[in-house]
Amino acid sequence: MSSENKRQSAEALSDIAKEIRRDIIRMLLEAGSGHSGGPLGITDVFAALYFGGIMNYDPSDPDWSERDRFVLSAGHMCPVLYATLANAGFFAKDELMTLRKYNTRLQGHPGRDMGLPGIETSSGSLGQGISIAVGMAMSDKLLEHSKRKVFAMTGDGELQEGSVWEAAMAAAHFKLDNFCWIIDNNDCQIDGRLREVMDVYPIDDKCRSFGFDTLIVDGHDFDELYKAFDLFLANLNNGSGKPTAIIAKTYMGKGVSFMEDRFEWHGKPPNAEQADIALNELT
Ligand SMILES: [Mg+2]
Repeated sequence: MSSENKRQSAEALSDIAKEIRRDIIRMLLEAGSGHSGGPLGITDVFAALYFGGIMNYDPSDPDWSERDRFVLSAGHMCPVLYATLANAGFFAKDELMTLRKYNTRLQGHPGRDMGLPGIETSSGSLGQGISIAVGMAMSDKLLEHSKRKVFAMTGDGELQEGSVWEAAMAAAHFKLDNFCWIIDNNDCQIDGRLREVMDVYPIDDKCRSFGFDTLIVDGHDFDELYKAFDLFLANLNNGSGKPTAIIAKTYMGKGVSFMEDRFEWHGKPPNAEQADIALNELT
């Protein structure tokens, strides 16, 4: 079964995103540790990718040779990846409650060796996941799987890692039009605003100068997200030889009033009272 070409309405994706956000809150409360802000902020992009007919996958056959691959370079944001995969049917939702527990398949950063279906590589050392993803895209070209797609998501603070730009340079040099780079531009990182910690702007000009077809979109607007992914699909299907970069403007903690746009929520879970408020707001 292929999940591709089943494009859903913005309303349907919005409902799915709410369910993923509720799962993230429940998981983090149960774990008592982990990252809230980033996962809640990028949830709409995950909903579009996995439920909007963009990615081709089969949850009953996660290692299907024709599947597209997704790499979460910002590995600490894994609660959203786990919740998305469970909602897509890769594994039972009950397992989400094992996040960060001893011997769980849902480690605090994704571990390929833990055997969780849908996890393509270990990640979490910032700047490395995108390099792995570019390697995957290169291998697909060499194997003439030229219509397979590879997606990598980095944070915006992650752009301060030099290896990100080595990967970007390679993607353009090797004409990887099968590679889509998603940048979660919430303008927050663990210690504050990007410009205060290490200015990475202008991100769009940097991506373009590295050879990417680049689009800035509202990361909470499904129609804009579809437009961005359509640009990528056109680059692939036309054999443009150009990789695509999607800069998704998002708000950390989106959907939970007291977390929204607050970098203090980068790396902490809600307590029971906060989780109650959050779950109420996410109905
Ligand atoms: Mg960020």
